[in-house]
Amino acid sequence: MIPLDLHAVQREVVTCTRCRLAETRTKAVPGEGAPDARVLFVGEGPGGRENESGRPFVGRAGQLLAELLRGIGWQRSEVFITNVVKCWPPGNRDPFPDEKAACNGYLDRQVFALRPRVIVTLGRHSMEKFFGPGQSISRIHGTTHRWRGILCYALYHPAAILRQPTLKPIMVADFGRLPALVAQEVVEPEPEPVEPALHPTSDEQPRLF
Ligand code: URA
Ligand code: SF4
Repeated sequence: MIPLDLHAVQREVVTCTRCRLAETRTKAVPGEGAPDARVLFVGEGPGGRENESGRPFVGRAGQLLAELLRGIGWQRSEVFITNVVKCWPPGNRDPFPDEKAACNGYLDRQVFALRPRVIVTLGRHSMEKFFGPGQSISRIHGTTHRWRGILCYALYHPAAILRQPTLKPIMVADFGRLPALVAQEVVEPEPEPVEPALHPTSDEQPRLF
């Protein structure tokens, strides 16, 4: 039985060698936040600053995320923040499909341990897991979709806003809808009884009881 417990995930991630990213990381970045967070933010993977510190979203993208949170009256400490892959892809390259697959079980376990009201996907890799492949972020940002009963909300990645500042008002507007989305999810959704697999090969084929 795989423990559905945030601390167990943290402990396993920091020593994990399930994919090649273990060879080049300095510190794995399991994620951080409130164990009773109502909102889970899922980015792509650690960058250089995160790799050094072991904490998610502490670089420039993280500063923008904190600014966006403050804009809706929230603090970092009241949400939970993690990534699709927990180790830095060298040179900040995109994570490869086999790396995302190797790491997927940790994210599943975090989701099921937290049972957040809303999962906010930041960028394409996170969106792909929760909204499915073949979507375009420029088309579906600001829209919602249910993943195993949990409301998911697709947003641009903060790094995309830094690269293309004209997108910032759109991001601010999308962020502005978050408090209402969370408030609307008053009844805790009951996820389907899925046993999160530690080593799933594909998100499309969860192991059912
Ligand atoms: N970008 C991400 O996707 N995640 C981080 O933790 C930092 C930057
Ligand atoms: Fe393990 Fe995930 Fe790090 Fe790969 S990215 S070594 S699967 S924690």
